[in-house]
Formats: sequence, structure tokens, C-alpha cells
Amino acid sequence: MKYSTYYIDNKTFDDTKKSIEKAGGWWVRFGTDMLTYAANNRWSDVDARFSADKRNARQNAGSVRKSDMHLVVQKGRTFQQENPDAEVLYDKGRYLVVAMSPAKAKQLAKRKDVCFHIMPLEENQVVFEEYVPKRTEAPTDTPEAGIVAGVQKSVFESYISQLVSYPTRLSTSSHYMEAAGWANGVLAGMGYGTSLETVSLSGGKTSANVVAKRQGNGGIARENIIVVAHLDSVNHPGGASADAPGADDNASGSAGLLTLAAACSGHEFAHDLTFILFGGEEQGLHGSTQYVASLPPAERARTRAVLNMDMIGSVNATPPAVLLEGATLSQSLIDGLATSAAQFTTLTVQTSLNPFASDHVPFIDEGIPAVLTIEGADGANSAIHTGDDTLDKIDADFAISILRMNAGFIAAEAGVIKPPADCGCGGGADTPPVTAEEAQAARELALHYQALFAQYSRLWRDGLLSSADYGNWQSARAAHDALMQQMGVATPHTYPQNAGLY
Ligand SMILES: [Zn+2]
Repeated sequence: MKYSTYYIDNKTFDDTKKSIEKAGGWWVRFGTDMLTYAANNRWSDVDARFSADKRNARQNAGSVRKSDMHLVVQKGRTFQQENPDAEVLYDKGRYLVVAMSPAKAKQLAKRKDVCFHIMPLEENQVVFEEYVPKRTEAPTDTPEAGIVAGVQKSVFESYISQLVSYPTRLSTSSHYMEAAGWANGVLAGMGYGTSLETVSLSGGKTSANVVAKRQGNGGIARENIIVVAHLDSVNHPGGASADAPGADDNASGSAGLLTLAAACSGHEFAHDLTFILFGGEEQGLHGSTQYVASLPPAERARTRAVLNMDMIGSVNATPPAVLLEGATLSQSLIDGLATSAAQFTTLTVQTSLNPFASDHVPFIDEGIPAVLTIEGADGANSAIHTGDDTLDKIDADFAISILRMNAGFIAAEAGVIKPPADCGCGGGADTPPVTAEEAQAARELALHYQALFAQYSRLWRDGLLSSADYGNWQSARAAHDALMQQMGVATPHTYPQNAGLY
């Protein structure tokens, strides 16, 4: 068997695959790359279907036994780190084609304790597609655009720095519970109804999911939009006692979830919104699996979309790309996200119907439409699951692009309700009317307060809060409460309780 890779563009894909098959070869598509292979006596005919300039010189070409060809899907570079001797035939970051004996691959495939999946390479398959969406004029005066505008980099940065400040977020550690308590307080402070739900792990150990909910208000049969990310981190080479900052995996997605919850907090929606931070993901998707198992049939049936974020902070492709990964039942979610990417970002879009190894999978397995949004594949972040997964590898502007896409999608799916022309935010008769611009400015100010509160909470945790800081915190809190009152938003008075600041 001989193989090589070639560039293809979307327009020529159908003709190219037919042509390869006609010449007696097989193909596997990875975005704009076509891995092509054929028996030795067929190869020259297959290879001749491509002009010399289409050959991808960056990738290998050579000979291999067909039965040895395997497809790997990995988190970061975890497959290569654990199997440094495996021969990599083709490298697209999250996806690899490797040469390995079927017996050895079968053995690896059985292991449950690893962060990759290996399977025989299937002939003539699309692993993922890639395209640059046709840009549409970004709307500015729609309620969806209002939510997207509420996604703020300073807010994201304050949440992610809080999350990496815990020495570890290993699911079973006391630091994990601190982080979960902090996130629970932040979500409660935004006005969501929150709870910490116990997750059972092996050996009688436990972790927790943070669940935050709010009801829709559209006067119609309410469906539910669930936004999820895993809060836990892990350091495989270092073990349980080592630092596990988990900046990309997955403080990026968790901080992203809090940023989206903040952006949604000042708006009304027709449908329900649920935000969940899962524990026990790195030990085998325990938090999400147990959450799905706990859902009664009626809850499953009214779940309109599940949006997962896992690793949204590292730029692994040029130009920057986002990968939307789901299954056939999530196709409309993938389409909705791609539309939002075209409206609100300049991201290249990759799409895959091979769901793998994150919290969208337990939902998909139960027939609930779910999709993963993750940094696009080309290279990969090799610091994943090590002590080097630190904040300096995070590109906040890139994460914000993915969050803008997600915000536009959530706004559309949850049916954001357009505020009345006079806004109606003023509440009582004594309150002067507030214009839409004033309402937007106030929402943005409220988000900055939230970010400030997160910083105070971190200072307190690290024992760095002076009495002057405490005074500043109290006046910031009073200003926030006054603003919320002016906007007619009830202040729930549930700022991070474990921070001891309120
Ligand atoms: Zn992860």
C-alpha cells in the first residue's frame, strides 16, 4: 500500500473522490487535506490524478500495510506522549493517522484511562470539513447582537486568572471544591438559581457539578438550552499532588461559560437557560454522564441544544479556526453555530461528525442534540494534561471569537426577547425611563463589577486583602447594587459566600 496527502478545495472534493475511487484508490478527508492510498500496482494511476502542486510536502508519503493504518483522535498530544514510538503517517493535531499492528491498536483501544481513541482507518470517510464562512454584515441593532456585545475580554480574563490561581482543580481535591464554590457564587451573583450536585467517582471519592438555571419568559412551551464546560484539570506526568493549572483544558471553557452567563444575565429569553460546570471529566466524563442519567424523559425531550466548550484558548491553526464537533442529530446546531461565526467572527470553521472524549458525548449517546466547540485542529497544544498548561499559552482574543460565536447561537436558540422601545428597565413609576443605549451601558458596567468581584475574591483567598481593599470592595458592591436597582434588576445578595466578603 502506498499513500500520500494532497490539498483539495471544497469545490473539487466530489470530483476528486470519484476520480480516486475510479483509479482503485481510497481517500480520507481532513479539511483541506486528502489522505490518499492504494495498492502498489494501482498507485501510479491514483497519484497521476493530482498535479504536482497539489502534493502536501509538509506531510509524509510512503508505504504501509493497509491493516496497520489507524485513525487517532487525541486531546492535545496525549497519544504521542504515551506512544512516542508509534509511526505517525499523517498529523493534523487532534487527528492522526498512525501505523500500528491491529493487535496492538486493539489493546490500546480497550484502555479507558487514556485521553485518545484509536480505531482502524475507515476507507473513503470525511473526518472533518473546513471552510471559511461567507461573511455576512454583522447586525448591530438586534437583541442577538446585544448579547454578543456583552461578551467582554476583561471579564473573561478575570475569570480565567481566578481559575488558574488554584494550585489544581483535580476533581477529587479540596481545591476543586473551592473553585466550584467560587464559580457557584459568581453565577448566583448574576441572578441564576444555583446548586452544587455531588458526582460519584471510583474508590468512593466524589466531585461536584455546578448547575445554574433561569427560566424563560416567552409565554410559549419552554424548551431548555444547556451550556456546559468541565471545571476540573489534571496533570498526568506529575500525578495527583502536582500543580495542574489547566489553563486551556479547561479554565478557558469554564471562564468562557461564566463570561457567557454574564452576557446573558441582563436579558430576557423565551426559553430556559442552564449553565453547568462538570466535575470528573478527566476521570471519564463522570459529571456529564451522571447529569444526563438524572434527567427525566420530559427534561431530555425539551432540551433543545447542548453547547459544550472544552479548550477554546490555544490557536492551533492558521488562520485561526474553530472546530464544531457533533453527530448527525446535532447538524442543525452545527449549522446555527457556523451562521453565528459568519455574523460575529472571522473564524475559519471546521465541522466533524465524530464526537469524542468530552462532555457532549454522554448527551449525544442519549439522543440529545449536543455539540462541542473547541480550538481548530492543525497543530495541537502539547501542554494539555501537564503542569505547563499555563495562562501564557492562552490567546484571549481567540477565545473571545469563539465566545462571540457561542453567544450569538445561544441568543438565537434561547429566543432572546427584544426589549421594548422605551426599554421598560426602569421598573417603578418613580424611576426615570432608561434608553436602550443606557441599558446596554449599564449591563456592560455590571459585567465589569462582576469581574472586579472575582478579583476581590481571589485576593481574599490568597490572604492579600487589606482593610482598604475591603472598604473598596464594599463601595463597589454598593455601587453595583444601586445600579441594579436603577435598572429594576433584583440583587440576589449572593456574592461568593465562601469569600466571606459580604
Ligand atoms: Zn478537557
